[in-house]
Amino acid sequence: MMTKSTAKGLSIRGIAKTYETRSGDLVEAVTPVDFDVAPGEFVSLVGPSGCGKSTLLNILAGFVEPSEGQAFVGDQPILAPNIDRGMVFQDYALFPWLSVIENVEFGLERKGIRKRQRRDIALHYLSTVGLEDFATKRTHELSGGMKQRVAIARAFATEPSIILMDEPFGALDALTRRFLQTQLLRIWQEHKKTIVFVTHSVPEAVTLSDRIVVMTARPGRFKAVLDIGLDHPRDFRSDEFHAYERQVYEQLDEELAKTFNLKETDVAAG
Ligand code: ADP
Repeated sequence: MMTKSTAKGLSIRGIAKTYETRSGDLVEAVTPVDFDVAPGEFVSLVGPSGCGKSTLLNILAGFVEPSEGQAFVGDQPILAPNIDRGMVFQDYALFPWLSVIENVEFGLERKGIRKRQRRDIALHYLSTVGLEDFATKRTHELSGGMKQRVAIARAFATEPSIILMDEPFGALDALTRRFLQTQLLRIWQEHKKTIVFVTHSVPEAVTLSDRIVVMTARPGRFKAVLDIGLDHPRDFRSDEFHAYERQVYEQLDEELAKTFNLKETDVAAG
């Protein structure tokens, strides 16, 4: 029944972005960046606020055009948004006038899948996130965590090769966040999508990622790329886990200090 698409890789070639504000000022958000994400890989971007993480993700989505360089899915240049790249945002971005299942079906309709099959696929993905009993509810009847599970089901349901996630759990309490991280890992392992994930949380990045990219203060470039060589599920209480967290914080502290114009020792990261 499911139309499985294989995960594809991403390449970022010399991407830079300068915005022009309404008053005509130029804001250099990202300086030239080169990077490859392997098919099926989970990569997180961390960095100080305003360093260009969302800009980069939006370039990969096709919402923002780079000032320089080009991003590719496989060998295809990214020129516009495409249903083959699913997005999950912090603020859920669900349609309030549609029911839960209609939200999940929305992208499937755009893919031209017939009504009966759309229902089956949407129900399958809702059950994957444990929400099949809420299919006919309106989204305002759901908690924040449930809304984000719907957003995840919606992103996976169209079987995109790449999923781009911008602080998806940033608005949730710590326990809900941990639960959704576990669910996301399970779905990712089952469906083998390529994921690029923006987060402010170092423990979250270490919990989820194959690799973590630490970006510099604006204008953002890639400061360090860390391989997280731990099997899943990862024990956030373990020494190995803490050692990886420390490595990320070491890279980040210098950049946070620059962002806030402080000495590195004043930055209380972690
Ligand atoms: P991050 O996601 O790391 O917090 P962003 O990519 O949102 O960073 O923003 C990077 C920089 O670009 C910030 O200084 C931000 O103010 C600026 N910026 C983002 N979008 C626009 C825009 N549409 N117009 C002008 N400046 C922008």
